[in-house]
Amino acid sequence: MKKVAIVGLGNVGIAYLNNLITEKNLVNEIVLIDTNENKLEGELLDIKDSLSVINSSINIYIGDYKDTKNADILVIAAGKNQDIGESRLDLLEVNKTIVKSITEKAILSGFNGIFIIATNPVDIMSYVVYKASNMSPNKVIGAGTILDTCRLKNLIKEKLNVSTNDININVIGEHGDNIVVLWSKGFVNMIPIDSLFTLDEKILMEENVKTRATKIINKKGYTNEGISLSLLEITKAILNNENKVLNISTYLDEIYIGMPAIINIDGVKGIVNIDYTEDEKRKLSSSINKTRKVIEDMEV
Ligand code: NAD
Repeated sequence: MKKVAIVGLGNVGIAYLNNLITEKNLVNEIVLIDTNENKLEGELLDIKDSLSVINSSINIYIGDYKDTKNADILVIAAGKNQDIGESRLDLLEVNKTIVKSITEKAILSGFNGIFIIATNPVDIMSYVVYKASNMSPNKVIGAGTILDTCRLKNLIKEKLNVSTNDININVIGEHGDNIVVLWSKGFVNMIPIDSLFTLDEKILMEENVKTRATKIINKKGYTNEGISLSLLEITKAILNNENKVLNISTYLDEIYIGMPAIINIDGVKGIVNIDYTEDEKRKLSSSINKTRKVIEDMEV
Protein backbone atom coordinates (compact mmCIF):
# COMPACT_ATOMS: atom_id res chain seq x y z
CA MET A 1 0.00 0.00 0.00
CA LYS A 2 1.09 3.52 -0.73
CA LYS A 3 1.51 7.00 0.68
CA VAL A 4 0.45 10.28 -0.93
CA ALA A 5 1.39 13.78 0.28
CA ILE A 6 -0.87 16.67 -0.70
CA VAL A 7 0.51 20.20 -0.46
CA GLY A 8 -2.26 22.79 -0.76
CA LEU A 9 -5.67 21.82 0.63
CA GLY A 10 -7.79 24.49 -1.05
CA ASN A 11 -10.57 23.85 -3.56
CA VAL A 12 -8.45 21.55 -5.72
CA GLY A 13 -6.49 19.74 -2.97
CA ILE A 14 -9.61 18.97 -0.93
CA ALA A 15 -11.59 17.73 -3.96
CA TYR A 16 -8.66 15.46 -4.87
CA LEU A 17 -8.49 14.17 -1.28
CA ASN A 18 -12.23 13.47 -1.29
CA ASN A 19 -11.89 11.42 -4.46
CA LEU A 20 -8.70 9.69 -3.38
CA ILE A 21 -10.22 8.24 -0.22
CA THR A 22 -13.06 6.59 -2.14
CA GLU A 23 -10.60 4.47 -4.15
CA LYS A 24 -10.37 1.05 -2.54
CA ASN A 25 -6.88 -0.30 -1.79
CA LEU A 26 -5.02 2.52 -3.53
CA VAL A 27 -3.36 4.33 -0.61
CA ASN A 28 -3.11 3.67 3.10
CA GLU A 29 -1.48 6.91 4.25
CA ILE A 30 -2.11 10.54 3.26
CA VAL A 31 -0.22 13.49 4.69
CA LEU A 32 -1.71 16.98 4.39
CA ILE A 33 0.45 20.11 4.23
CA ASP A 34 -0.78 23.71 3.95
CA THR A 35 0.27 27.08 5.35
CA ASN A 36 -3.30 27.72 6.57
CA GLU A 37 -3.20 25.57 9.71
CA ASN A 38 -6.66 26.51 10.95
CA LYS A 39 -8.31 25.45 7.70
CA LEU A 40 -6.21 22.29 7.63
CA GLU A 41 -7.38 21.31 11.11
CA GLY A 42 -11.02 21.87 10.11
CA GLU A 43 -10.59 19.88 6.90
CA LEU A 44 -8.98 16.99 8.79
CA LEU A 45 -11.91 16.74 11.22
CA ASP A 46 -14.33 16.86 8.30
CA ILE A 47 -12.50 14.23 6.23
CA LYS A 48 -12.28 11.93 9.26
CA ASP A 49 -16.08 11.97 9.32
CA SER A 50 -16.05 10.90 5.66
CA LEU A 51 -13.65 8.04 6.47
CA SER A 52 -16.08 6.87 9.08
CA VAL A 53 -19.01 7.02 6.62
CA ILE A 54 -17.20 4.82 4.10
CA ASN A 55 -15.60 2.64 6.79
CA SER A 56 -12.09 3.44 5.58
CA SER A 57 -8.94 2.87 7.63
CA ILE A 58 -6.70 5.23 5.62
CA ASN A 59 -4.35 7.08 7.95
CA ILE A 60 -4.77 10.81 7.19
CA TYR A 61 -2.88 13.42 9.21
CA ILE A 62 -1.55 16.96 9.14
CA GLY A 63 2.17 16.81 8.58
CA ASP A 64 5.33 18.58 7.59
CA TYR A 65 7.86 18.14 4.81
CA LYS A 66 9.71 15.49 6.82
CA ASP A 67 6.60 13.35 6.31
CA THR A 68 7.07 13.46 2.53
CA LYS A 69 10.33 11.49 2.82
CA ASN A 70 8.70 8.09 2.29
CA ALA A 71 5.77 9.27 0.14
CA ASP A 72 5.28 7.67 -3.26
CA ILE A 73 3.55 10.74 -4.69
CA LEU A 74 3.53 14.42 -3.77
CA VAL A 75 0.68 16.43 -5.26
CA ILE A 76 1.18 20.18 -5.49
CA ALA A 77 -2.15 22.05 -5.47
CA ALA A 78 -0.87 25.04 -3.51
CA GLY A 79 -0.85 28.59 -4.75
CA LYS A 80 -3.05 31.30 -6.10
CA ASN A 81 -6.00 30.53 -8.36
CA GLN A 82 -7.40 32.81 -11.05
CA ASP A 83 -9.58 35.73 -10.04
CA ILE A 84 -12.31 36.80 -12.48
CA GLY A 85 -10.54 38.36 -15.47
CA GLU A 86 -7.13 36.88 -14.64
CA SER A 87 -5.31 34.52 -17.01
CA ARG A 88 -3.32 31.48 -15.90
CA LEU A 89 -0.11 33.27 -16.89
CA ASP A 90 -1.01 36.16 -14.53
CA LEU A 91 -0.35 33.69 -11.68
CA LEU A 92 3.19 32.92 -12.81
CA GLU A 93 5.33 35.00 -10.48
CA VAL A 94 3.42 34.37 -7.25
CA ASN A 95 3.01 30.65 -7.91
CA LYS A 96 6.59 30.18 -9.08
CA THR A 97 7.85 31.31 -5.67
CA ILE A 98 5.39 29.04 -3.83
CA VAL A 99 5.97 25.96 -6.01
CA LYS A 100 9.75 26.36 -5.97
CA SER A 101 9.86 26.61 -2.19
CA ILE A 102 7.57 23.56 -1.75
CA THR A 103 9.76 21.53 -4.11
CA GLU A 104 12.97 22.53 -2.37
CA LYS A 105 11.59 21.69 1.07
CA ALA A 106 10.37 18.28 -0.10
CA ILE A 107 13.69 17.43 -1.73
CA LEU A 108 15.65 18.61 1.35
CA SER A 109 13.48 16.29 3.45
CA GLY A 110 14.41 13.34 1.25
CA PHE A 111 11.30 13.05 -0.94
CA ASN A 112 12.17 10.72 -3.80
CA GLY A 113 8.78 9.83 -5.26
CA ILE A 114 6.81 11.31 -8.13
CA PHE A 115 5.59 14.92 -8.22
CA ILE A 116 2.12 15.62 -9.66
CA ILE A 117 1.44 19.31 -10.28
CA ALA A 118 -1.94 21.07 -10.52
CA THR A 119 -0.86 24.66 -9.79
CA ASN A 120 -1.24 27.04 -12.74
CA PRO A 121 0.20 27.89 -15.16
CA VAL A 122 0.66 24.15 -14.97
CA ASP A 123 3.19 23.60 -17.78
CA ILE A 124 5.45 26.31 -16.39
CA MET A 125 5.00 25.13 -12.78
CA SER A 126 5.91 21.58 -13.82
CA TYR A 127 9.11 22.96 -15.34
CA VAL A 128 9.77 24.87 -12.08
CA VAL A 129 9.43 21.62 -10.08
CA TYR A 130 11.69 19.78 -12.53
CA LYS A 131 14.39 22.46 -12.25
CA ALA A 132 14.11 23.01 -8.49
CA SER A 133 14.04 19.29 -7.69
CA ASN A 134 16.89 18.26 -9.98
CA MET A 135 14.95 15.04 -10.45
CA SER A 136 14.75 12.96 -13.57
CA PRO A 137 11.97 14.49 -15.75
CA ASN A 138 10.01 11.24 -15.74
CA LYS A 139 9.29 11.85 -12.04
CA VAL A 140 7.68 15.26 -12.58
CA ILE A 141 4.19 15.15 -14.08
CA GLY A 142 1.86 18.10 -14.65
CA ALA A 143 -1.92 17.72 -15.00
CA GLY A 144 -1.38 19.03 -18.55
CA THR A 145 -4.26 18.74 -20.99
CA ILE A 146 -6.12 15.79 -19.42
CA LEU A 147 -8.86 18.21 -18.40
CA ASP A 148 -8.93 19.99 -21.78
CA THR A 149 -9.30 16.54 -23.41
CA CYS A 150 -12.21 15.66 -21.12
CA ARG A 151 -13.83 19.03 -21.76
CA LEU A 152 -13.71 18.39 -25.52
CA LYS A 153 -15.04 14.84 -25.09
CA ASN A 154 -17.93 16.26 -23.14
CA LEU A 155 -18.78 18.75 -25.91
CA ILE A 156 -18.60 16.01 -28.56
CA LYS A 157 -20.78 13.75 -26.43
CA GLU A 158 -23.41 16.47 -26.07
CA LYS A 159 -23.37 17.20 -29.81
CA LEU A 160 -23.58 13.59 -31.00
CA ASN A 161 -25.43 12.04 -28.06
CA VAL A 162 -22.89 9.21 -27.75
CA SER A 163 -21.06 7.74 -24.77
CA THR A 164 -17.72 9.35 -23.88
CA ASN A 165 -16.40 5.78 -23.78
CA ASP A 166 -16.73 5.70 -27.56
CA ILE A 167 -14.95 9.02 -28.07
CA ASN A 168 -11.24 8.86 -28.67
CA ILE A 169 -9.72 12.32 -29.05
CA ASN A 170 -6.59 13.99 -27.69
CA VAL A 171 -5.92 17.59 -26.76
CA ILE A 172 -2.24 18.42 -26.33
CA GLY A 173 -0.01 21.52 -26.06
CA GLU A 174 -0.15 24.23 -23.40
CA HIS A 175 -3.03 23.78 -20.94
CA GLY A 176 -5.46 26.64 -21.49
CA ASP A 177 -5.10 29.17 -24.25
CA ASN A 178 -2.73 27.30 -26.59
CA ILE A 179 -4.20 23.83 -26.83
CA VAL A 180 -3.85 21.69 -29.96
CA VAL A 181 -6.68 19.31 -30.84
CA LEU A 182 -5.56 16.24 -32.78
CA TRP A 183 -8.75 16.08 -34.87
CA SER A 184 -7.07 13.88 -37.48
CA LYS A 185 -6.51 11.12 -34.89
CA GLY A 186 -9.98 11.29 -33.31
CA PHE A 187 -12.64 8.63 -33.59
CA VAL A 188 -16.18 8.06 -32.38
CA ASN A 189 -16.14 4.31 -32.11
CA MET A 190 -14.74 3.53 -35.61
CA ILE A 191 -15.84 6.71 -37.37
CA PRO A 192 -13.19 9.43 -37.88
CA ILE A 193 -14.27 12.50 -35.90
CA ASP A 194 -12.92 14.75 -38.65
CA SER A 195 -15.73 13.56 -40.90
CA LEU A 196 -18.48 14.30 -38.33
CA PHE A 197 -17.98 18.05 -37.93
CA THR A 198 -17.48 21.07 -40.18
CA LEU A 199 -14.42 23.27 -39.72
CA ASP A 200 -16.61 25.96 -38.10
CA GLU A 201 -18.01 23.44 -35.62
CA LYS A 202 -14.50 22.30 -34.70
CA ILE A 203 -13.27 25.87 -34.25
CA LEU A 204 -16.26 26.62 -32.00
CA MET A 205 -15.63 23.52 -29.87
CA GLU A 206 -11.95 24.45 -29.48
CA GLU A 207 -12.98 27.94 -28.33
CA ASN A 208 -15.45 26.41 -25.88
CA VAL A 209 -12.70 24.22 -24.41
CA LYS A 210 -10.40 27.24 -24.04
CA THR A 211 -13.02 29.39 -22.32
CA ARG A 212 -14.63 26.71 -20.15
CA ALA A 213 -12.52 27.43 -17.05
CA THR A 214 -13.32 31.16 -17.30
CA LYS A 215 -17.04 30.36 -17.58
CA ILE A 216 -16.88 28.19 -14.46
CA ILE A 217 -14.78 30.73 -12.52
CA ASN A 218 -17.21 33.54 -13.44
CA LYS A 219 -20.06 31.49 -11.97
CA LYS A 220 -18.63 29.61 -8.96
CA GLY A 221 -15.30 31.35 -8.38
CA TYR A 222 -12.95 28.45 -9.04
CA THR A 223 -12.67 25.10 -10.83
CA ASN A 224 -11.93 21.96 -8.85
CA GLU A 225 -14.03 18.93 -9.87
CA GLY A 226 -12.55 18.04 -13.26
CA ILE A 227 -8.98 18.79 -12.19
CA SER A 228 -9.26 16.70 -9.01
CA LEU A 229 -10.38 13.64 -10.98
CA SER A 230 -7.64 14.29 -13.54
CA LEU A 231 -5.09 14.23 -10.69
CA LEU A 232 -6.67 10.99 -9.49
CA GLU A 233 -6.28 9.44 -12.96
CA ILE A 234 -2.55 10.19 -12.86
CA THR A 235 -2.29 8.85 -9.29
CA LYS A 236 -3.99 5.58 -10.25
CA ALA A 237 -1.89 5.18 -13.41
CA ILE A 238 1.25 5.46 -11.25
CA LEU A 239 0.27 3.44 -8.19
CA ASN A 240 -1.46 0.68 -10.17
CA ASN A 241 1.40 0.59 -12.69
CA GLU A 242 -1.15 0.92 -15.46
CA ASN A 243 1.02 1.94 -18.44
CA LYS A 244 -1.86 4.26 -19.27
CA VAL A 245 -1.67 6.99 -21.89
CA LEU A 246 -2.71 10.37 -20.49
CA ASN A 247 -2.26 13.87 -21.90
CA ILE A 248 -0.04 15.12 -19.11
CA SER A 249 2.46 17.95 -18.99
CA THR A 250 5.81 16.34 -19.58
CA TYR A 251 9.39 17.15 -20.52
CA LEU A 252 9.98 17.77 -24.21
CA ASP A 253 12.99 19.59 -25.69
CA GLU A 254 13.85 21.37 -22.42
CA ILE A 255 10.33 22.61 -21.63
CA TYR A 256 7.14 21.10 -20.14
CA ILE A 257 4.09 20.77 -22.40
CA GLY A 258 0.94 18.64 -22.71
CA MET A 259 1.67 15.43 -24.61
CA PRO A 260 0.20 11.91 -24.68
CA ALA A 261 2.53 9.96 -22.41
CA ILE A 262 2.60 6.46 -20.95
CA ILE A 263 2.33 6.55 -17.15
CA ASN A 264 3.35 3.74 -14.82
CA ILE A 265 4.97 3.15 -11.43
CA ASP A 266 8.16 4.90 -12.59
CA GLY A 267 6.29 8.00 -13.73
CA VAL A 268 6.54 8.84 -17.43
CA LYS A 269 7.67 5.84 -19.45
CA GLY A 270 7.65 7.71 -22.75
CA ILE A 271 5.79 10.04 -25.06
CA VAL A 272 3.59 8.46 -27.71
CA ASN A 273 4.94 9.01 -31.24
CA ILE A 274 2.38 10.75 -33.41
CA ASP A 275 2.26 11.29 -37.13
CA TYR A 276 0.94 14.88 -37.05
CA THR A 277 -0.77 16.58 -39.98
CA GLU A 278 0.93 19.79 -41.21
CA ASP A 279 -1.76 21.86 -39.44
CA GLU A 280 -1.26 20.01 -36.13
CA LYS A 281 2.53 20.39 -36.47
CA ARG A 282 2.21 24.14 -37.02
CA LYS A 283 -0.17 24.60 -34.07
CA LEU A 284 1.92 22.42 -31.74
CA SER A 285 5.10 24.23 -32.65
CA SER A 286 3.38 27.58 -31.94
CA SER A 287 2.16 26.27 -28.55
CA ILE A 288 5.64 24.97 -27.71
CA ASN A 289 7.31 28.23 -28.78
CA LYS A 290 4.98 30.33 -26.61
CA THR A 291 5.68 28.13 -23.58
CA ARG A 292 9.42 28.13 -24.32
CA LYS A 293 9.43 31.93 -24.45
CA VAL A 294 7.85 32.15 -20.97
CA ILE A 295 10.34 29.62 -19.59
CA GLU A 296 13.33 31.37 -21.18
CA ASP A 297 12.25 34.73 -19.74
CA MET A 298 11.86 33.24 -16.24
CA GLU A 299 14.45 32.60 -13.55
CA VAL A 300 13.96 29.45 -11.47
P1 NAD B 1 -7.14 27.75 -3.20
O1 NAD B 1 -6.81 29.18 -2.96
O2 NAD B 1 -8.51 27.25 -2.88
O3 NAD B 1 -6.11 26.81 -2.42
C1 NAD B 1 -4.74 27.03 -2.45
C2 NAD B 1 -4.20 26.47 -1.16
O4 NAD B 1 -2.78 26.58 -1.21
C3 NAD B 1 -4.67 27.26 0.09
O5 NAD B 1 -5.22 26.35 1.03
C4 NAD B 1 -3.39 27.91 0.61
O6 NAD B 1 -3.37 28.04 2.01
C5 NAD B 1 -2.34 26.92 0.10
N1 NAD B 1 -0.99 27.47 0.03
C6 NAD B 1 -0.61 28.68 -0.45
N2 NAD B 1 0.74 28.80 -0.35
C7 NAD B 1 1.19 27.66 0.19
C8 NAD B 1 2.49 27.16 0.52
N3 NAD B 1 3.58 27.90 0.33
N4 NAD B 1 2.58 25.94 1.06
C9 NAD B 1 1.48 25.18 1.28
N5 NAD B 1 0.24 25.58 0.97
C10 NAD B 1 0.10 26.80 0.44
O7 NAD B 1 -6.80 27.46 -4.75
P2 NAD B 1 -7.38 26.27 -5.64
O8 NAD B 1 -8.63 26.73 -6.26
O9 NAD B 1 -7.33 25.02 -4.86
O10 NAD B 1 -6.28 26.24 -6.80
C11 NAD B 1 -4.97 25.79 -6.53
C12 NAD B 1 -4.13 25.89 -7.79
O11 NAD B 1 -4.61 24.93 -8.76
C13 NAD B 1 -4.22 27.25 -8.49
O12 NAD B 1 -2.95 27.63 -9.00
C14 NAD B 1 -5.18 27.00 -9.63
O13 NAD B 1 -5.01 27.91 -10.70
C15 NAD B 1 -4.78 25.59 -10.00
N6 NAD B 1 -5.74 24.87 -10.82
C16 NAD B 1 -5.24 24.14 -11.85
C17 NAD B 1 -6.09 23.47 -12.69
C18 NAD B 1 -5.50 22.70 -13.85
O14 NAD B 1 -6.22 22.25 -14.74
N7 NAD B 1 -4.18 22.48 -13.86
C19 NAD B 1 -7.47 23.52 -12.47
C20 NAD B 1 -7.95 24.22 -11.37
C21 NAD B 1 -7.07 24.92 -10.55
